[in-house]
Amino acid sequence: MSDLFSKFDPLIQQREELLSTGLTDPFNLVMEKVESPTVAICNGRRTILLGTYNYMGMTFDPDVIAAGKKALDEFGSGTTGSRVLNGTYVGHRAVEDALKDFYALDHAMVFSTGYQANLGVISTIAGKDDYIILDIDSHASIYDGCAMGNAQIVPFRHNDIEALEKRLKRVPEGAGKLVVLEGVYSMLGDIAPLKEMVAVSKANGAMVLVDEAHSMGFIGENGRGVAEAQGVIDDVDFIIGTFSKSVGTVGGFCVSNHPKFEILRLVCRPYVFTASLPPSVVATAATSIRKLMDGAGKRAHLWENSKRLHAGLRQLGFKLGTDEPQSAIIAVLMPDLETGAAMWEALLKEGLYVNLARPPATPAGMTLLRCSLCAEHSSDQVEEILGMFAAAGRATGCI
Ligand code: PMP
Repeated sequence: MSDLFSKFDPLIQQREELLSTGLTDPFNLVMEKVESPTVAICNGRRTILLGTYNYMGMTFDPDVIAAGKKALDEFGSGTTGSRVLNGTYVGHRAVEDALKDFYALDHAMVFSTGYQANLGVISTIAGKDDYIILDIDSHASIYDGCAMGNAQIVPFRHNDIEALEKRLKRVPEGAGKLVVLEGVYSMLGDIAPLKEMVAVSKANGAMVLVDEAHSMGFIGENGRGVAEAQGVIDDVDFIIGTFSKSVGTVGGFCVSNHPKFEILRLVCRPYVFTASLPPSVVATAATSIRKLMDGAGKRAHLWENSKRLHAGLRQLGFKLGTDEPQSAIIAVLMPDLETGAAMWEALLKEGLYVNLARPPATPAGMTLLRCSLCAEHSSDQVEEILGMFAAAGRATGCI
């Protein structure tokens, strides 16, 4: 039978072939119980979590949980409305104030997810006859934001400063320009040369948007991200972020110093035409963000964890996405999907959860076992994780 689903046949076949070997479906795992930011029960087994983006381990912070419970009692389970109608509660204002304080910027606008923040801001600010110049390895939400708008899209080679400059110089005189970058690229865990890229963008009259989803809370003196760490945060026009990683809940945002920023609340469709976040979610986010302002100790421990895991995996003979650890993401390169899936399953049987990542999410057709560390992983857990990689690696012939 041929119908609209026929285009998915190759993917269905690939999946069936993989699962016919008896492999556990790597994209269908159920967390039966979650005990802490670093441990869950999966398939009845205690499993260390090493693929959650829960960088600062805020999901079980007692103050965060108490704030969520209080808001649930006082404001109910949901707003049932858009931010521009009945969906702005004091909690939404409070989380935007927390973001303004966290970044020391004038404006903050909260969306229901980070995905929607990129979709909304990019599609709204870059209009017809404008140009978006973006790193080719940009996240799906950035590409979807480009696809939703009417601007001309010009990708450049990943992290290539000269390629960015060349593309910028080719934009027709007088056209509006938006350069879109990420602080940390989530597949390989590498960071962008923002210092140079922001300078080149500004020299060529472009506005700059940086998605700091994977650096917020962790990178930079105050956890403001790679732009802060590289001293260019004042030259970045828009920072996009998410509550689904270091903040430990769900939601997205854009912060900016642009004097006309607030008009976006009326013209940005993924902000206007969807319900706002539940009161309990914004309460947990606000509490978490304020605690992250005081997170230097956690940040230092997370760096220790990233460095130890990177060095240990390398010593075991695994190929990694970066020569040095640049973030809390360590990507282990697999030769192909079959080996990657076998290694993923072997790790799960050892009691370790990592992300299996494959094209089209990954660059250059790579299969990756993506590890993301948490500030709540103890040093002993990191050693335990290395033992599991050694056993699974040997069992599958990866090392
Ligand atoms: N930007 C980047 C770089 C991301 O990795 C992600 C999520 N993985 C998002 C945006 C979307 O965030 P959210 O989960 O809040 O939709």
